[in-house]
Amino acid sequence: MTDFDLHIHGKYSGGVSPEMKIPVIAEEASKKGLDIVGTGDILNPKWLHHVKEETEQRDGYLERDGVRFVPTTEVEDEDRIHHLIIFPDLEAVEEAYRDFQKLSDDIRREGRPRIKACGEKIVEIAKKHDCLIGPCHAFTPYTAIYGHKDSLKECYGEQTGKLDFLELGLSADSGMASKISDHDDLIFLSNSDAHSPWPHRLGREFNRAELESESFEGLKKLFNGDSGSMELNVGLDPREGKYHCSACNSCHQKYSLEEAKGFDWSCQECSGTIKKGVKDRIEELSDREPGYGVDYLHLPPLAKIIQLTVGHSSPTTKTVQRKWESFNEKFGEEASILIDEEIDNLSKVDEEVAESIRKFREDEIVMIPGGGGEYGERILPENREEKQNIIEENRPEIKCRYRHE
Ligand SMILES: [Zn+2]
Ligand SMILES: [Zn+2]
Ligand SMILES: [Zn+2]
Repeated sequence: MTDFDLHIHGKYSGGVSPEMKIPVIAEEASKKGLDIVGTGDILNPKWLHHVKEETEQRDGYLERDGVRFVPTTEVEDEDRIHHLIIFPDLEAVEEAYRDFQKLSDDIRREGRPRIKACGEKIVEIAKKHDCLIGPCHAFTPYTAIYGHKDSLKECYGEQTGKLDFLELGLSADSGMASKISDHDDLIFLSNSDAHSPWPHRLGREFNRAELESESFEGLKKLFNGDSGSMELNVGLDPREGKYHCSACNSCHQKYSLEEAKGFDWSCQECSGTIKKGVKDRIEELSDREPGYGVDYLHLPPLAKIIQLTVGHSSPTTKTVQRKWESFNEKFGEEASILIDEEIDNLSKVDEEVAESIRKFREDEIVMIPGGGGEYGERILPENREEKQNIIEENRPEIKCRYRHE
């Protein structure tokens, strides 16, 4: 099995940790259990130079300390829609750079360059250089395809059939995305979009697949359906996202789609505007019931689970870090701790954390969804009875409805 995360950003991008450099990413990726990581930002000349210096070029991938990298970048098109491009090798990067450079003012300094072209043209260029391409975090409201367009075709035109995948993003999962039949031919990816290398960021979402080879070629064959198989998407619960429900931008009061339309998107509690949630956006675009076969495992990173268990405000406190390290020392890769290791074994390191992992695996948590720019909240009930009580108390919130007094 191969675990991979194909969307990250390097240290030269805005808002990115200076620790996002190849040796640190490789070290953290192997702790996390990622076998393949996208380099991110590979069209940026400084980052390209850094990647060349810090990795060994092999046939179909780059290598650093046992972790394989494939060259990737995110680009923004003229409609502010983001696309993810995966390159076969660094020669293809340099050739594609010449084409993209003519259409961009900021490609020399940005990690995610702005390309003055539409999605269709960008796919055309990517395909000319044998790249793989698809939309990034497809459902986020501001910089993604469904924030601006109603269908793949509206963005990609004649090139729609050439898309290789669709990245779900933190606010959607495969069940939600499969309500749109246009997506039937596409592999769904769950990537982290990490801006820092720490284990609650890098690989906070990742993919698990059977690949013929752990290389660009292996990924290409998987996306084309020629060999290999997609096994699992692992990522955050979409209800945690800031824009899951339709909700007021100021006071975060939640509304169902019908209620919001009825109130003309104006909040009944304050004078705020109701922002349409991802759930309702997908509902509008949906043309059938969910029908996707690959499992989506809703699991936050281990550091987040520990944080929630010990009741700290951040996943980077010393206690959280120490517990994370003791799991890492005993069991190695985080991916297998979260997904594969027996709970009884995990209990030997820390009973409470092991119990929390079990609750997450068996979906015994309560999720109060986010909306209107406010993140959702996870609650870990003591037992099933408490879970039921929490659900009763928060019913309108959980259902994303307006609470009438
Ligand atoms: Zn993006
Ligand atoms: Zn990104
Ligand atoms: Zn309001």
